[in-house]
Amino acid sequence: MTLFDLSGSTALVTGSSRGLGRAIAEGLGAAGARLILNSRTGGSSLSKAADELRAAGCEVYEAAFDVTDEPEVKKAFDRFDAEGLAVDILVNNAGIQHRQPMLDLALADWQRVIDTNLTSAFLVGREAARRMIPRGRGKIINIGSLTSELARAAVIPYTVAKGGIKMLTRGMAAEWAKSGIQANAIGPGYMLTDMNEALVSDGKFDAWVKSRTPAGRWGKPEELIGTAVFLASGASDYVNGQIIYVDGGMISVL
Ligand code: NDP
Repeated sequence: MTLFDLSGSTALVTGSSRGLGRAIAEGLGAAGARLILNSRTGGSSLSKAADELRAAGCEVYEAAFDVTDEPEVKKAFDRFDAEGLAVDILVNNAGIQHRQPMLDLALADWQRVIDTNLTSAFLVGREAARRMIPRGRGKIINIGSLTSELARAAVIPYTVAKGGIKMLTRGMAAEWAKSGIQANAIGPGYMLTDMNEALVSDGKFDAWVKSRTPAGRWGKPEELIGTAVFLASGASDYVNGQIIYVDGGMISVL
């Protein structure tokens, strides 16, 4: 399956100390990619994830930086350049949630969610593409959500950011496809990660997810790996600007 072989390429996965980013990184590593793991702060959680992936046989670099901070993002890429790390695959995964009705929402919380879930993909994507374009190839995978399509009460900034991710992905495709870069997105359904801890332990919400999802269950982080490897590999060289939902069918049914 050489079409899906990532040997010789380097993948930066933002927000990969845990959750979906950690699972995607593990999958890309298993397909042969050298990994750059990221989270806001370095230290134990990032190093623990890095050590686990090294133990699984991956080559792993750690890069702690805040994806919302333009100078920090630039500095990180300058460091990759100095160390000879060319990012061939970028997964814009870092994200946060903030649940509050819009009438009570403070501007600072709106801004924080938009910055972390959307502006980050612009900042890191721009820096990566500046280096991919001269090489004539690169893969960018933005992490969207079911809220890239559908709104939900009390998570409006998240919904706006993820809707923006869908259009940012198409914008990246519009500008960069001719330079050999494929920009696509993954829209995960309800997945079992820390971000959803409160929802999983809420019996009513848990029952709603299971009844609303045709697959009848929450998704597991590792269930994103197949789509991530596809979008990171030569198998997707003519796929551009798409968002692929990995959601047990939720977005397809009423
Ligand atoms: P988690 O909360 O489990 O993990 C989020 C990761 O992002 C952590 O590694 C966190 O590390 C990092 N992070 C957060 N803010 C920043 C920042 N400013 N700079 C760098 N890293 C940051 O989330 P999930 O794994 O659940 O979610 C990952 C992505 O998937 C998000 O974009 C989310 O919106 C999306 N998603 C999740 C779904 C789900 O059901 N879980 C469904 C649909 C989409 P640290 O806090 O240490 O910085």
